[in-house]
Amino acid sequence: MAVGKEEVEEIVKARTDKREYRRIVLPNSLEVLLISDPDTDKCAASMDVSVGAFSDPDGLEGLAHFLEHMLFYASEKYPLEDSYSKYIIEHGGRTNAYTSSEHTNYYFDINADAFEEALDRFAQFFINPLMSADATMREIKAVDSENQKNLLSDGWRMNQLQKHLSAADHPYHKFSTGQELTLDYNKNSLTQCS
Ligand SMILES: [Zn+2]
Repeated sequence: MAVGKEEVEEIVKARTDKREYRRIVLPNSLEVLLISDPDTDKCAASMDVSVGAFSDPDGLEGLAHFLEHMLFYASEKYPLEDSYSKYIIEHGGRTNAYTSSEHTNYYFDINADAFEEALDRFAQFFINPLMSADATMREIKAVDSENQKNLLSDGWRMNQLQKHLSAADHPYHKFSTGQELTLDYNKNSLTQCS
């Protein structure tokens, strides 16, 4: 099956690593690293998007993190909210995602016999995500409560302090995780006007 252009470069791996690796580039330019390990009892996939909190527009701090939350809700092909997470859990898997400065990464693992459907459900988030107004408002609240939790953590407080003390014209300086005040456009513009 011709899935894409195969790169000729050799993949360097440890001598003790018995897994097989293959890198392909799909016709849509998506770079894929395939890893085969017949000894594992699960399959896994991860999707990395080279955009993170550094790309948040001014005045919408936390947008990349918020989008990370939103994608897992539903897609046009699988419109039932949270059906992806339910499918993963019911088939012995786990799923999560994170947003860093320049990347947003989504991943899951699952029992091998359920991998193909899980991968399709996962791929639909990036092809045709479904973002209802109702879910958007709920998820702004979820990001806000995540921030409330972070406020109680020394690690997160140190992280924000470091950002605050860095050069103001560098994207690292920005508040990256978001809260209701930065993400809810109505409140956001009201705040700026007052
Ligand atoms: Zn989050």
